[in-house]
Amino acid sequence: MSKARITVVGGGIGGFTAAIALQASGFAVTLLEAAPAFGEVGAGVTLSPNAMKGYVYLGLAERIAAAGVEPTRQRIQHWQDGRTLVVMDRADMRQRYGAPYVYIHRADLHAILVEAAQAGGCTLLTGAAAVAVEGTTVLLADGRRIDGDLVIGADGLKSVVRGLFEPEKAHFTGHVAWRGLAPAEGKLAELAAFPGMHIGPGRMVVRYPVRGSKILNMVFFARQEGWVQDGWTIPASRADLEETFAGWAPEVQAMIAAAPEDRLYKWAINARKPLSTWIIEDKVALLGDAAHAMTPFMGQGAACAIEDAIVLSRALSASSSIGDGLQRYVAARHERATFIQQESNANADRMQARDTELFGLEGLRNEDSLGLLDYDCRTVAV
Ligand SMILES: Cc1cc2nc3c(=O)[nH]c(=O)nc-3n(C[C@H](O)[C@H](O)[C@H](O)COP(=O)(O)OP(=O)(O)OC[C@H]3O[C@@H](n4cnc5c(N)ncnc54)[C@H](O)[C@@H]3O)c2cc1C
Repeated sequence: MSKARITVVGGGIGGFTAAIALQASGFAVTLLEAAPAFGEVGAGVTLSPNAMKGYVYLGLAERIAAAGVEPTRQRIQHWQDGRTLVVMDRADMRQRYGAPYVYIHRADLHAILVEAAQAGGCTLLTGAAAVAVEGTTVLLADGRRIDGDLVIGADGLKSVVRGLFEPEKAHFTGHVAWRGLAPAEGKLAELAAFPGMHIGPGRMVVRYPVRGSKILNMVFFARQEGWVQDGWTIPASRADLEETFAGWAPEVQAMIAAAPEDRLYKWAINARKPLSTWIIEDKVALLGDAAHAMTPFMGQGAACAIEDAIVLSRALSASSSIGDGLQRYVAARHERATFIQQESNANADRMQARDTELFGLEGLRNEDSLGLLDYDCRTVAV
């Protein structure tokens, strides 16, 4: 079993994490990425301790933490006057969970993952867009056929591999996001030092530092009826943000003023409905967004992809057949990922409610209070 050939479709956070883990467990991994080069969008990502436990397992956690920023606290603020509604202590993450809480630029994380996959001996192919899967053979757009013993679909929200499970496409969730990075200077340096979010009716603004706290990652969320543009990242203007966030706190206006006009993008937030299973016999498995793309209001999409990758690798290593390993993977992961998918949607309603004054009065329900950070993909039963 350990020499089984595994084809991972997709070189995102989930695909790379799976490839590194599986190759280290003795499988022969080929990773296929549609893009002409490995890379990631210019934006940040939060890796909460449950995600970072996966990188402790792979021996990459300290490199990732060193390339990122570990916050000591976070806050949730009122949209209009900026007053602090809730403070979350992040100083003791390592002691409490055995892994750090890290903000990192996606490109920095990706560079570490690509290097680790290369060093581990994975075969990495770029310009390799999967168009179909037949049994355990992946067909590429340029006519090549990649044979193996198992196909893992880690090809994200618009997964081709998921097409084997259902005909539906990803759906628009009614949320849009503008993303931008700006130098953490002046007022923005203060915001980087105490990161968090402003919440208000139908909207919210998230910010945190990356790259040694020299850059502030900013995401502006709003609800919007329909989405007609075809495309992934639509160039946006500061004027859009000024109009959408008129009347919001001075700190939000400072972030909008610093948003880079030439590198400000608007995204539709699309998601997937839960699938009843993510595996086909002993041939195909899905992980990450391909399996359970969710809204980003719990900051757990990438974390779930990392957890999937480690648990899948452990389940296959612990089994005498691929089919048994895949059954164990789904049994270990499906309930949790589906729960987080549903809670992420509910979190948007909680944080973007009509009356911000009431936020948190009934008890905060977030990744901390739901116990999501306790999860340990290194030891959970497979
Ligand atoms: C605004 C926003 C903020 C977010 N913030 C956070 C956060 O702070 N924390 C967190 O945990 N999550 C966050 N998420 C969610 C997170 O980004 C995703 O859940 C995560 O990136 C999923 O990783 P993945 O590897 O499954 O998919 P992807 O990152 O989408 O990677 C899929 C890869 O497959 C490739 N590919 C696609 N089709 C093919 C094909 N046919 N053949 C070959 N390759 C293909 C793509 O080019 C890509 O490289 C956020 C999401 C959004 C939208």
